[in-house]
Amino acid sequence: MQLSSTCACKSHAQLDFQLLICHLPVLYGISAVCDGGQTRSQPMEGKAISVGVLCIQGAFIEHIHKLTEISKQNEIPITVTEVRRPDQLSSLDGLIIPGGESTTLSVFLKKNDFEECLKSWICNEQHPGVVWGTCAGLILLADELTGQKKGGQVTIGGLKVQCSRNTFGRQMDSFESTIKLKHPPLYEATPPTPPSYIQPLNEDECHGVFIRAPGILKINDPSVTVLATQGENVVAVQQDHIIATTFHPELTNDTRWHMYFVNQIAQRKERKGQ
Ligand code: GLN
Repeated sequence: MQLSSTCACKSHAQLDFQLLICHLPVLYGISAVCDGGQTRSQPMEGKAISVGVLCIQGAFIEHIHKLTEISKQNEIPITVTEVRRPDQLSSLDGLIIPGGESTTLSVFLKKNDFEECLKSWICNEQHPGVVWGTCAGLILLADELTGQKKGGQVTIGGLKVQCSRNTFGRQMDSFESTIKLKHPPLYEATPPTPPSYIQPLNEDECHGVFIRAPGILKINDPSVTVLATQGENVVAVQQDHIIATTFHPELTNDTRWHMYFVNQIAQRKERKGQ
């Protein structure tokens, strides 16, 4: 498998969206140099954070925008790669599988022999990569799935939960609601000012956009931690390096979930001494 270095990606400009941030190395000890308008990154031994977003279908561009935003705001050097080929996985520290339509994603993954590569990237215990599935992404990551398309659909698996595909009903039943955050790292940042039609949020809350959202019906292993709930519903979980949300944080003005994801990556890299 070919590693996608910055230079290699430049020659694949139509496939890879590369983001090089030229700021002070505040959080992760990265040095980057601005040179006559050109940006050259000089990561200190593998410290730059390389995030891939699966760009096949669904809300991938919104995730890219959020990663760009937090990178600029917090001066974190993040390299974002639009992932459309299995060989792009090997260089990533983290991967977002966006929401959209899980059956469409499944068909593409199967057709392109992508599914096995994703499985081994996610389930490889040596790999420091963190994966975050939002909505359809969660459906693909769940070990147990109900309400699949007739004839079944390909999933990646790895997350020990039972997921129901369209638990809240059809498109028309999509809704927005306040979510309760359970996990302290998310409290560190201040919640954003919500749009006027939404109640102001407390620090341990976020706004949830649920679009034909899946449900987490059952947690099948104690290694799965609940990160957030909406009423009685579990809407975000984490099992070691796998994060999954039934809603769409990329469609709100809140950057805390993306910060959380990037922090998880940084912590893993630090533990592995990378
Ligand atoms: N329920 C949808 C599916 O089966 C997912 C919806 C979403 O990602 N917003 O794919």
